[in-house]
Amino acid sequence: MQREVFDLAIIGGGITGAGVALDAASRGLNVALIEKRDFASGTSSRSTKLIHGGLRYLEQFEFGLVREALRERATLSRIAPHLSEPLAFLVPVYDARRPSPLGRNKLKLRLGLWLYDLLAGRQNIGRHRWLKPEEILKLAPALEAGGLKGALLYYDCLTDDARLVIEVIKAAAEAGAIVANYAAARGLVKSDGRVSGIEVEETRGGRRFTLSAHVVVNATGVWSDEVARLADRNGARKLRPSKGIHVVMPDEGFNCEAAVLIPSLGEQRFLFIVPWLGRTLIGTTDTDYGGPLDEPVADPDEINRVLESAARYFPRANLCTERVISTTAGLRPLVSEDDKSTSELSRKDELIESDSGLISMIGGKLTTYRRIAERVVDRVMERLGRARGKCMTGQIELAGGVLSDAQMKDESPRMAAEYALPVETVEHLMHKYAGNSRVILEITRESPDLRSPLIEGLPHIAAEVVYAARYEMAMTVEDFLARRTRIALLSRDHGSGCVARVGELIHEGHEEARRESPA
Ligand code: FAD
Repeated sequence: MQREVFDLAIIGGGITGAGVALDAASRGLNVALIEKRDFASGTSSRSTKLIHGGLRYLEQFEFGLVREALRERATLSRIAPHLSEPLAFLVPVYDARRPSPLGRNKLKLRLGLWLYDLLAGRQNIGRHRWLKPEEILKLAPALEAGGLKGALLYYDCLTDDARLVIEVIKAAAEAGAIVANYAAARGLVKSDGRVSGIEVEETRGGRRFTLSAHVVVNATGVWSDEVARLADRNGARKLRPSKGIHVVMPDEGFNCEAAVLIPSLGEQRFLFIVPWLGRTLIGTTDTDYGGPLDEPVADPDEINRVLESAARYFPRANLCTERVISTTAGLRPLVSEDDKSTSELSRKDELIESDSGLISMIGGKLTTYRRIAERVVDRVMERLGRARGKCMTGQIELAGGVLSDAQMKDESPRMAAEYALPVETVEHLMHKYAGNSRVILEITRESPDLRSPLIEGLPHIAAEVVYAARYEMAMTVEDFLARRTRIALLSRDHGSGCVARVGELIHEGHEEARRESPA
């Protein structure tokens, strides 16, 4: 990074920075990206994990945003189907005894979902329909049946947000971008009043260097005001962070095959109950946030409110704090507008260019990262005085190429026999890593020990740690447990039972990489 002058340097390794890096590198630019902690350690690993149009935004008449997001849902399902999997969603409607999440007006609801289907166009993944109580209880057997009149069923997609970021970062690196985690922007360098580089500090080593670039993009989400002030000390605050929490519960008690929308206690919004990686994810909230940005946490009263909201609709799920497996808290980088509450603020993205030429991209959603990146890179091309070229990211398959369901089904027994692994392990690898699962399977040949599970009750094996250290820049045990896999969220001990083993394997992976490239 110190040796050349890049066309573009990006600050921030969340989904926005990752998307910009991939788009720019695949249009032929010379790109560098720095992330102050780990990739996806900010908001992009703390979302509700939906690749969705956003039903709620229809109420705010944000039809353009919904249409764009629904199209992106289709694109992502094509380039990374394992990271955008269709899921049924239920909006239950009750009689007067119990509020319904989107109001009791069935006609308004149907109209909204009709519009949702219409905006999805020919790439829709399934049309909405009305379900009778007995049909609902097949999909969500523990949902309160008293007073249940029916439910509207519609479809959206589910992802693993952190893995999506990692795969986009890897695709950017394959396209030629140079990427670094644990490298923070501490200052901006200017030449003739224009931003021409970044003062970088390696946060795990303390070394400092200058990264030079013709254009610098600030893709730091809720930190973007902070970074913009490195360019202009008197810059106005543009952001209004809003906190959203999630609670991860055991699947027992829910056993849902569909996500369910329920009203949120004390907020004018609804909560999603989502079956995710063998657990149930409940969230989210939306509250103004003024605390430190680096480590937001779910407060006990927020957790209780989420559990109480869910317990009204799942009374037999035994929703007490003792059964909570883990929680997450994330900060939405919303663009400030006078007099509006955070839930009324638009989820649209906004590109801001400072007088000194720093391009900041704020707002937006995980779902629309590709389009956000396209808008940024179009502007970067203009600034560089180059022809825009065509955005190619809709054609770039992620994760070493798509594996279809049929391929997974056909190939997994054969692979299991070839690599002496249980079929479930092979299925898990194929599902998590798509085409790259072949690389992990090859790693298992290096030692029988690498075939063994890391932690009881979860399908992960030791070879995944080696893969994460060699190919995914996992630097710490937490990088592996919290973002390369989601063990920290899924396991009651947050992975502490395998910390020593993961640490050793990461260390070995790095030693090996150092031996192979001594420079
Ligand atoms: P971030 O992911 O926060 O990335 C910014 C990065 O910049 C961070 O990793 C940070 O460490 C780094 N950084 C900061 N300062 C520096 C510096 N000085 N030097 C180097 N690096 C720096 N969207 C959806 O589409 N679907 C959903 O279901 C959904 N659910 C959500 C639920 C919640 C509770 C929240 C909060 C958001 C949700 N979103 C959802 C929105 C989505 O998660 C965000 O819009 C998106 O993740 C923002 O990505 P980002 O890259 O802009 O920010």
